[in-house]
Amino acid sequence: AKRNGGGQTSCYQVGMKEAVAERHSLESDMRIAMGRREFHLAYQPVMTLCDDRIIGYEALIRWDHPVRGLVPPASFIPVAEQSDQILAIGRWVLEEACREAATWIDDRHVAVNVSSVQLRSPRLLEHLISALTTSGLPADRLEIEVTETALIESGEKVSEILTAIRTLGVKVAMDDFGTGYSSLSHLRQLPFDRIKIDRSFVANAMTDQSSMAVLKGVIQIGRDLGVSTLAEGVETKGQLDLLRSLGCDVIQGYLIGKPTRIARQAMAAA
Ligand code: C2E
Ligand code: CA
Ligand code: CA
Ligand code: CA
Repeated sequence: AKRNGGGQTSCYQVGMKEAVAERHSLESDMRIAMGRREFHLAYQPVMTLCDDRIIGYEALIRWDHPVRGLVPPASFIPVAEQSDQILAIGRWVLEEACREAATWIDDRHVAVNVSSVQLRSPRLLEHLISALTTSGLPADRLEIEVTETALIESGEKVSEILTAIRTLGVKVAMDDFGTGYSSLSHLRQLPFDRIKIDRSFVANAMTDQSSMAVLKGVIQIGRDLGVSTLAEGVETKGQLDLLRSLGCDVIQGYLIGKPTRIARQAMAAA
């Protein structure tokens, strides 16, 4: 909107002010949320395409705000990252996910999202070890998910950090693959166990040739590198069939199961 003279504030400026106030409000509420046990984790199943087995779950944080209701992580995680609260929240997520996964009857893995801020923290390794030790969860049942963008932002030392994490026996997945830059060179250079192909490629593959090309290409590269490929956001049987025909290893999405408070066996989808 334009200024209509007389020094009045534009709609744009009002919008900016509201956004800043909103961020401050979330940020201060977040500081007390942990003590009030307002966070919990939801678990979304991951299924193999070769034999339709649930092999693990991704842990996704949920914030049940006393006034706002459920606040989506996309609204508060970026705020937590800017205020460094992500270090405390991220540590809690790690401990809670390991503690809950250790009670699961079978040996399914739990995948935990790790922010680039955590990845740059010198204490991440120590926090991983402590979460594993306290819970008794075997290291090979923990997987951390790091976004492709975080890997690039974190610079040269990231390769050493990932190697140290993998030396513990913890698996590393590259999240949201395809949405960042210089994807292919990073695939070659970085030590990791799984590629999670961003759900936008899955959603568009049927109608968009370039998405289909990326999907095919990444699955092929995964095979060549001996790295597991996971397709995110699978919502239809058609997408499942396509991914199976392309040789994708594992899938995740509403078709298999939505994130739920308690990790549970998903419905057979195939
Ligand atoms: P992400 O890591 O890419 O997680 C997948 C998101 O896609 C989740 O949203 C999940 O609920 C959603 N999803 C799963 N299957 C489908 C599907 O079939 N269709 C559609 N449309 N969506 C699907 P959610 O839980 O809202 O999380 C959003 C993002 O917030 C995550 O994206 C992740 O980047 C971040 N996040 C969530 N939990 C944590 C956490 O504990 N720590 C950190 N650092 N980030 C987290
Ligand atoms: Ca993830
Ligand atoms: Ca993802
Ligand atoms: Ca994402």
